[in-house]
Amino acid sequence: MIYAPDYYPHFRCIAADCRHSCCIGWEIDIDADTRAAYAAVGGEIGEKLTCAIDDSGDAPHFRLTPDERCPFLRRDGLCELILTLGEDSLCQICADHPRFRSFWSGRTELGLGLCCEAAGALILSRSEPMRLIPIEDDGDDTPPDDDERVLLTLRDELLAIAGDTSLPLDGRFDAILARAGSRLPERTMADWRQTYLTLERLDPAWDDALAALNNCTPHPGWDEPFARLLEYFLYRHLPAALDDGRTAERAAFAVLSVHVIRTLFAAGEPTMARLVELARMYSSEIEYDEDNVEALLGKLT
Ligand code: SF4
Repeated sequence: MIYAPDYYPHFRCIAADCRHSCCIGWEIDIDADTRAAYAAVGGEIGEKLTCAIDDSGDAPHFRLTPDERCPFLRRDGLCELILTLGEDSLCQICADHPRFRSFWSGRTELGLGLCCEAAGALILSRSEPMRLIPIEDDGDDTPPDDDERVLLTLRDELLAIAGDTSLPLDGRFDAILARAGSRLPERTMADWRQTYLTLERLDPAWDDALAALNNCTPHPGWDEPFARLLEYFLYRHLPAALDDGRTAERAAFAVLSVHVIRTLFAAGEPTMARLVELARMYSSEIEYDEDNVEALLGKLT
């Protein structure tokens, strides 16, 4: 069975209206099937494909332009490949983004990554707690093994705490850490700022945002958008504990991530657009970089 958060079917890419297009700044690998299909394309677009693909590395990928854009991203923000060859012509990464997947026995989970501003706006503006819904029966009904059953049960409990409106957000943080057998180290936000500044960073705007990471009072009335963030990080990052066994650290990573974004948010105007942008930056700078996630998990043991 394939599951996804209840907001998942409502996602739409905003394409030309996107201010931080996923077609800028990322090297996009092309899967083998799509590479073979591109090799068979003729005409002007076929010639452009031949010139625009670099086959010299581990995986074929599009050569970015000097300003780091996908060569098929038009100045109006639309994709030349979709316009010319149709949506089915996209390589797997482009067709998937910003979706992510977690694989369990008999169960695939889909989600939307916060590094996409359209996904962030959708997730953070929800007033109700996230619910997982079955979206497709793929015919695989293999039951979960013992480790999976334990982790699924724990994650359900942590998600229920994250969405518990009878608790203030800080109370939800404490309850999640206690239930996961975890805790955050005794550190100030200035200490965490120093840690985040040692991580790999992509965008100078993230450095500027981190400069505001100091202990400051959260804006009142914003617990629910941060609860949606908490649900997102728990949903997305706990399944990897099946591979590395670091359930407690991953729960702490979810709490720390929301704590950091809430503190950054407290340093400026409380608007949804600003929150979506901070979440987008955090996602692309931290959670989409496995080395950065590893480094933070190492601080949470
Ligand atoms: S980041 Fe999201 S909204 Fe922007 S172009 Fe990519 S998928 Fe579309």
